[in-house]
Amino acid sequence: MIQPGSWLGILGGGQLGRMFTQAAQSMGYRVAVLDPDPSSPGGRISDSHLMTEYDDLDGLKELARFSSAVTTEFENIPADSLRFLSDLLSVSPQAEAVEVAQDRIREKTFLDKHGFRVVPYAIFNDANDLASLPQNLVYPGLLKVSRFGYDGKGQILIKDFTELKAGFEKLGSVPCVFEQFLPLEAEVSVIVARDQMGDTAVFPVAENQHCNGILDLTIAPARVADPIVSEAKQIALSLGEVLQYEGVLCVEFFILSDGGLVINEIAPRPHNSGHFSMDACSVSQFEQQVRVTSGLPLIKPRQHTSAVMINLLGDLWENGEPPWGRVLNDDRVRLHLYGKDDARPGRKMGHLTIIDKNLDEALILSQQIKTVLGKK
Ligand code: AMP
Repeated sequence: MIQPGSWLGILGGGQLGRMFTQAAQSMGYRVAVLDPDPSSPGGRISDSHLMTEYDDLDGLKELARFSSAVTTEFENIPADSLRFLSDLLSVSPQAEAVEVAQDRIREKTFLDKHGFRVVPYAIFNDANDLASLPQNLVYPGLLKVSRFGYDGKGQILIKDFTELKAGFEKLGSVPCVFEQFLPLEAEVSVIVARDQMGDTAVFPVAENQHCNGILDLTIAPARVADPIVSEAKQIALSLGEVLQYEGVLCVEFFILSDGGLVINEIAPRPHNSGHFSMDACSVSQFEQQVRVTSGLPLIKPRQHTSAVMINLLGDLWENGEPPWGRVLNDDRVRLHLYGKDDARPGRKMGHLTIIDKNLDEALILSQQIKTVLGKK
């Protein structure tokens, strides 16, 4: 066990790295953040900020020299960097798991192979694959880049096969996955923490609503039937087992009209849809990440109040600072801003959590707040 007072390292200093850093620091750890961006939200509040690229071996060595263990906050970290570090100290999650989650083709293939239900898909590595179109493609569909897509970026709606070639070229002729566009009943996600001993702790299932491919609202607990809740948790735990995962893992699901669950994607880190845990649970997803990283026992999360999380995108800053006073005068509202200077449209600047014993009341207040903020 790595004692509080020791140093923990994290690759990536975005908002997830920042909230990890805050959780670790409040438990007495010191945190080294490796992120090339001098103004990264996590780097700014870290005890040491190493501003090197993620594949810079000197930077990685320096991080290892500082730290007793290392974790990561985003999936596009080169897996080789995690491998390099794991020869020097404890690293979670492991390179192999991150490698699966950072590449849609690998992810789908892995999930399929291990019997997890995914959206019907076809793989397009190059133009030759377009020439030999699979017969079973059902349109419309979404063509998604295999790597570096996020928040609905790097994907195009394809209405029929004549659009496929142009769509592939528009995405840069890089390896892609074609997914059937499914009518969704709802979207839910499950966050599970799994430690080196295989002990696990699952967060309540959360319901997610997206706007333009970006998470807009998370409602927790999810308003879905109990068997769906149990199944989603069971799938997330099984996946953790198959991956022999160490760390915090998010599994995002689509719920189909027949109640069936399919995995949309997985994230090898805390997730936007788990932010409600900071204000509504006995332990946050970030404290669990600290606990796995440092070998402390996991806590079984208990949700003590219903919650609605609203994402705050840069668009809200169009006319200056949003009217926080009109939002924070209700004691059920918690504001989290990530310390980003540049409020670009679509950029995640922070979130609000509305907590209320009664979920319906929390939902009503969240609608009122959206109106006050002028949020569409
Ligand atoms: P992604 O970045 O792949 O998670 O996509 C962002 C959002 O787009 C998802 O949360 C869904 O709301 C929607 N979406 C993505 N793929 C599909 C699909 N195959 N069918 C229906 N909706 C989808």
